[in-house]
Amino acid sequence: MEKKEILDGQKLSPGPVGRWIIYIDKCTGCGECVDACSLELLYIENEKVQMKEERYCTECEDCASACAFRAITFR
Ligand code: SF4
Ligand code: SF4
Repeated sequence: MEKKEILDGQKLSPGPVGRWIIYIDKCTGCGECVDACSLELLYIENEKVQMKEERYCTECEDCASACAFRAITFR
């Protein structure tokens, strides 16, 4: 099964995007949140975290919990 199918199966009706918020000034690019996201939705670019496809985000908050700098929150 392709990764996309797995992701699509996680959330049958896509939620509203824009709930996941990064305070970019606080982000050090340490990558802890990237490792914490089991759906592999996060990546580091230019030493800052980025979200790949927010519609797949389940808002589990694992990334926020992993961030020692409190750079991630939810609307
Ligand atoms: S854990 Fe926090 S500081 Fe580290 S990359 Fe993620 S958002 Fe940035
Ligand atoms: S809230 Fe959960 S699913 Fe969404 S990016 Fe963070 S760890 Fe991944």
